[in-house]
Amino acid sequence: MYLSENLETPVWGEYEVAVCGGGIAGISAALAAARQGKKTVLLEQQYLLGGLATAGLVTIYLPLCDGMGRQISFGIAEELLRLSIRDGAEARYPENWLENKGTRTECDPRFQVQFNPHLFAIHAEALLLREGVDLLYGTRVTDVRVEDSYIRCLFVENKSGRGAFLVRSVVDATGDCDVALRAGAPTETFLAGNKLSSWYYSLGKDGYRLNLQDWVDPPAGEAEKGPSPKDRRFDGLEAKSLTEQTVLSHRSVYHDFLRKRKEDPSYVPTCLPSIPQVRMTRKLRGKCELSEADSHRHCESSVGMVSNWRSRGPVYEVPFEALFCPEIRNLLCAGRCISTDQSLWNILRVIPCCAVTGEAAGTAAAMTDDLPRLSVSELQKRLRQRGVVLHEKDLPPPRAGEGPCPAEALEK
Ligand SMILES: Cc1cc2nc3c(=O)[nH]c(=O)nc-3n(C[C@H](O)[C@H](O)[C@H](O)COP(=O)(O)OP(=O)(O)OC[C@H]3O[C@@H](n4cnc5c(N)ncnc54)[C@H](O)[C@@H]3O)c2cc1C
Repeated sequence: MYLSENLETPVWGEYEVAVCGGGIAGISAALAAARQGKKTVLLEQQYLLGGLATAGLVTIYLPLCDGMGRQISFGIAEELLRLSIRDGAEARYPENWLENKGTRTECDPRFQVQFNPHLFAIHAEALLLREGVDLLYGTRVTDVRVEDSYIRCLFVENKSGRGAFLVRSVVDATGDCDVALRAGAPTETFLAGNKLSSWYYSLGKDGYRLNLQDWVDPPAGEAEKGPSPKDRRFDGLEAKSLTEQTVLSHRSVYHDFLRKRKEDPSYVPTCLPSIPQVRMTRKLRGKCELSEADSHRHCESSVGMVSNWRSRGPVYEVPFEALFCPEIRNLLCAGRCISTDQSLWNILRVIPCCAVTGEAAGTAAAMTDDLPRLSVSELQKRLRQRGVVLHEKDLPPPRAGEGPCPAEALEK
């Protein structure tokens, strides 16, 4: 059954750049667009910036380096890493890298940190406001109006009701391609599905800590009815399934609590994620798809580089064409929903990559509302001016005494 609504929607504002979603990609995109001098709004459905990295308690900023002593991701990716530990890191402090020693063995830490989610969200918020971004919390983008292949208006809902923003260009940083889907852009879902995760913070005799875990079975004597969700997979896109996934992850935290409480009477969970912990959901099918085979391949239209958090060595130059599709001419995607193939998606979804693609998308959105006609060399010039290194060939040569990591030391 369908009901029709007769809606008159008030226009709440007009923006040169509208960024939808305030995770790492959205923060980076809004920052980049505002720094290009454009009137920029960031629309976020939560009351906190950072998305999975803060509200989702995924507080490990994975490496900016290739694990061979070379920094690969620069610009806002590095700025946010440093911002995330402005008041100190919780773990994995990148001393090794910062002291210019390079990281060349399996045991050496790569340039990564574990940060405090609350402090990072507060600092990111202050930074965006300082840079002139208009921030609107509690605001969900629900629909778009497309005219002649351009998004002309975003419809939103929040405590004030339903409103519209007139927009010149749009960055979809929702993580799930919500805006691209609404606009009719080609998208694709993650075929393998997400396993259940239940990361949470706790306090106990070992202090304050982040627990990184998937499903935890109930302790002996607390058995529950039904099959274990260990082997279940979730698409992260459907309300009922997201609710079930969330309920199961809460149960998993409780099971973990029961187990640890037996050993440590002081043990308590202190913070649960306030958004579902989903990895890959829906992504753009852009003009080009990045794949594993692109490692170390020169890409003429590169907008930044990312490394591979799962193995030392690979370096990917991200093509501008992975951020948009010709069908919607003023829409870019950033973060975990850019155009990649199914297997590299798991590499490109992580925090540093989201910052790299966010900065590129925000800069491009500030330059034009007709992306297929954008001068990529001008975009690259602007990114370079902000400190982004675009090509592997432009990286400084290895420091004296440093060579590539020996093959036997590479992660499998
Ligand atoms: C269990 C788990 C472990 C992980 N481990 C790591 C790790 O160790 N290190 C690492 O670097 N990465 C890790 N990741 C991946 C990483 O955290 C995320 O992929 C990354 O933070 C995604 O950033 P994003 O900005 O693209 O999207 P998100 O963080 O998903 O942000 C999207 C934002 O958009 C908002 N939004 C969504 N829809 C709308 C809408 N319609 N209107 C308005 N706002 C909207 C959301 O509220 C959210 O704030 C992990 C992920 C998971 C789930």
